[in-house]
Amino acid sequence: MTVDRFGRTFQDLRLSVTDRCNFRCPYCMPKEVFGPGYQFLPRADILSFEEIVRLTRVFARLGLRKLRLTGGEPTVRADLPALVGMLRRAVPGVDLALTTNGSRLTSLADDLAQAGLDRVTVSLDAIDPEVGQRMNGVEFPLQRVLDGIDAAAAAGLAPVKINAVIQRGVNESEITRLAEHFRGTGHIVRFIEYMDVGASNGWKLDDVVPAAEIIERLQSELPLEPVDPSYRGEVARRWRWKDGSGEIGVITSVTQPFCGDCTRARVSAEGKLYTCLFAGVGHDLREPLRSGRTDEQIYERLAGIWRAREDRYSELRSAATADLPKVEMSHIGG
Ligand code: SAM
Ligand code: SF4
Ligand code: SF4
Repeated sequence: MTVDRFGRTFQDLRLSVTDRCNFRCPYCMPKEVFGPGYQFLPRADILSFEEIVRLTRVFARLGLRKLRLTGGEPTVRADLPALVGMLRRAVPGVDLALTTNGSRLTSLADDLAQAGLDRVTVSLDAIDPEVGQRMNGVEFPLQRVLDGIDAAAAAGLAPVKINAVIQRGVNESEITRLAEHFRGTGHIVRFIEYMDVGASNGWKLDDVVPAAEIIERLQSELPLEPVDPSYRGEVARRWRWKDGSGEIGVITSVTQPFCGDCTRARVSAEGKLYTCLFAGVGHDLREPLRSGRTDEQIYERLAGIWRAREDRYSELRSAATADLPKVEMSHIGG
């Protein structure tokens, strides 16, 4: 078994299939930075479906258990269901998931489910249309995202996980609204602490609503009790409503980091491997894929990178780490 410098194995891969997105959430791709003149990756620089599948097979040898397709917005990549089908056949035992802003699920959910997708996470930061539409940066109608969640459930991708980033003074009002909206549906809302990813969102610690405060707000409406993690390294801390009406989660990346159990790696759309969400530099995997290296050689490269891994950014987060160069979230998909 390949372990890193802190004894952590590799298990999860988040694979970005595009750096483009049809939303401009200010905490991720602020319009001022990602405007009309922004240079996204040229098509030729992005891994093809065949290259993605080949790389995934090699990651399977390293211990891959969960593969999550992300972006940018993964559903803006043409023929995404075809890629899901190819991956399903290549790594049949691996849990195959998708993180999306939900904007295209009404038309894609059936095809994705039929191609073999196991699960979907939809990012949704509000129930109030005005707050939600402001937070997606393009006034995208919230109802279409809610319809997308229903379409995913109807296609058999239930329960759906709903990711909500909570920002002080922006959508705190939505904490209870989101919880109430999805209570009793079987879907699971996960509240995410706003993180200092990338260099364009102007993050300040004051903008973070700590998970403890989120739980307190929810508890004041209806009692909750903690649930044991379903496996070691689970990112969300689980809670359930005492009346049996469902479960929620909180992702405490800022206030209670979980680097000690971090088994995740990320690959950007152009094939760079990042061993931490906050890594400044990626390891180029496209060059070996395109220069005739064998699978064995690529496997050796991956194993070597993993063995040398010593990332634990969130545990070290401090004034000293604040100015280090970091990759953008929209580049590696969260
Ligand atoms: N476009 C897809 C989506 O929004 O689900 C996938 C990519 S997006 C980068 C993945 C996740 O990262 C989303 O749930 C988003 O809310 C989250 N995210 C982006 N920027 C964040 C930040 N600064 N802090 C916390 N979560 C963030
Ligand atoms: Fe796009 Fe997702 Fe980033 Fe929002 S969070 S801008 S939907 S990539
Ligand atoms: Fe993993 Fe890096 Fe996040 Fe820590 S900061 S949990 S090492 S991705």
